[in-house]
Amino acid sequence: MNILELDTKEEFDGNKKEFWLNLKIDGEEFLKRIDSDLNAAIFEELENSLNGDNDYLIFTCACGIADCGGWKKTQVKYAMGKTIWTFEYNDKKYNFEFDSQFYKGEIERMRFELNKSKLKLKPDFIMDPE
Ligand SMILES: [Zn+2]
Repeated sequence: MNILELDTKEEFDGNKKEFWLNLKIDGEEFLKRIDSDLNAAIFEELENSLNGDNDYLIFTCACGIADCGGWKKTQVKYAMGKTIWTFEYNDKKYNFEFDSQFYKGEIERMRFELNKSKLKLKPDFIMDPE
């Protein structure tokens, strides 16, 4: 079983502070592990993924255009108390299994934090893969 952890991170664009979702899997910042800093995770899509089996654009390019970063949607499936992610990136297949209750709890915790801090996360523009 994998562990999903959510947090925010600050980055400076010139002298403007920006906030991004820091998505960790098994204690490691996932997008850093697989690539450079040019990708982003979309919190709203994680929230949407609580609605059930479907494809969700959980990861995208930092500019918000999925095709720019070569991202497809992540297939999310619920089975036997698990939330299962399957996707491909750079010709590599990824598969993660989260405990559905922890998964939901972590996303709801992040939503609570975001509401409290009123942070607006980047990217602010999102375009699905074609
Ligand atoms: Zn881009």
